[in-house]
Amino acid sequence: MFRGLLLEKGEGGFGARLAEIDESRLPGADLADVLVQPEYSTLNYKDALAITNRAPVVRAWPMVPGIDGAGTVLESAHPDWKPGDRFVLNGWGVGETHWGCLAERARLKGDWLVKLPAAFTPRQAMAIGTAGYTAMLCVLALESHGVVPGDGEVLVTGASGGVGSVAIALLAKLGHRVVAVSGKPDAADYLKSLGAAEVLDRAAFTAPGKPLQKERWAAVVDAVGSHTLANALAQTRYGGVVAACGLAQGLDLPASVAPFILRGVTLAGIDSVMAPKARREAAWQRLARDLDATLLERIASEVSLDFAIAKAAELMEGKVTGRVVVRIA
Ligand code: NDP
Repeated sequence: MFRGLLLEKGEGGFGARLAEIDESRLPGADLADVLVQPEYSTLNYKDALAITNRAPVVRAWPMVPGIDGAGTVLESAHPDWKPGDRFVLNGWGVGETHWGCLAERARLKGDWLVKLPAAFTPRQAMAIGTAGYTAMLCVLALESHGVVPGDGEVLVTGASGGVGSVAIALLAKLGHRVVAVSGKPDAADYLKSLGAAEVLDRAAFTAPGKPLQKERWAAVVDAVGSHTLANALAQTRYGGVVAACGLAQGLDLPASVAPFILRGVTLAGIDSVMAPKARREAAWQRLARDLDATLLERIASEVSLDFAIAKAAELMEGKVTGRVVVRIA
């Protein structure tokens, strides 16, 4: 038996509880070839949606949530993994269609796992989580477009969130001048402590704007979508690039093609869930090299598995800043 969160849906409706689960209920070895002990998991926005049943994140019932995990391999039939190896897992539909890591045991595909970089403990890896790994994917996209420090200011939207916080820390350490957009006036000191040179009020971005505006940004990391992304595109300098990864304001993109056809701006889409393994490994290696791990203490708070359901509800109410790690054992 192992302890884990269990989400169930039946005639009685939806339920989320901390349960004692028989190991025989884990997905079979034919579906997943590595048995792991997650030491830490995390609450991403998507996890909170699943645990509170606010959106159809879960597509198979019952479900153990937890799209991220870091810990130790217990058993493996996969050639790359042996007992005792340390892993990190992000996405691949885990916690959505496949039982996830908010539990003392998970059975996962070896192909999904990435070696935990020596620079990080499992707790630090989960302080980064999908949000931080996505921030790194955004930075890699800017770099592959040729953006280098000194090119000009880089804008980060949704700044006080998980993606935004890690993006600021990474870009500032790499030597970029980072400008943060936030709706939380009292988060300015926090954002500057991560490396933001300036903090702008998000009200100037969330309202509809002109299709072409004064050119300012060499590059943008956008976690917000909707009018914010449209305004960021309209303010991006000739030949600049905008990495779009989120929808905190909305799924829509009320923009024009003007920035693309008149300024040669590139819109780079970022997906973390199905990103190929080589890109994940590159992202985690770069996180190990370029992220100041001491900042993670400022970004992340911790709860035990016993309080994860209550914390997910708080997250849905917008009461949480930064990242939440979940201690499993
Ligand atoms: P968080 O909830 O931690 O942060 C989102 C931030 O966006 C908030 O902190 C807030 O920042 C800002 N925000 C919230 N609501 C609004 C609004 N209505 N209008 C404008 N800004 C708003 O989420 P994450 O950082 O973990 O994720 C950010 C986004 O990226 C989410 O939409 C998430 O679904 C998506 N995502 C996508 C991934 C991918 O693979 N493409 C992977 C991971 C996340 P502030 O108060 O500072 O303005």
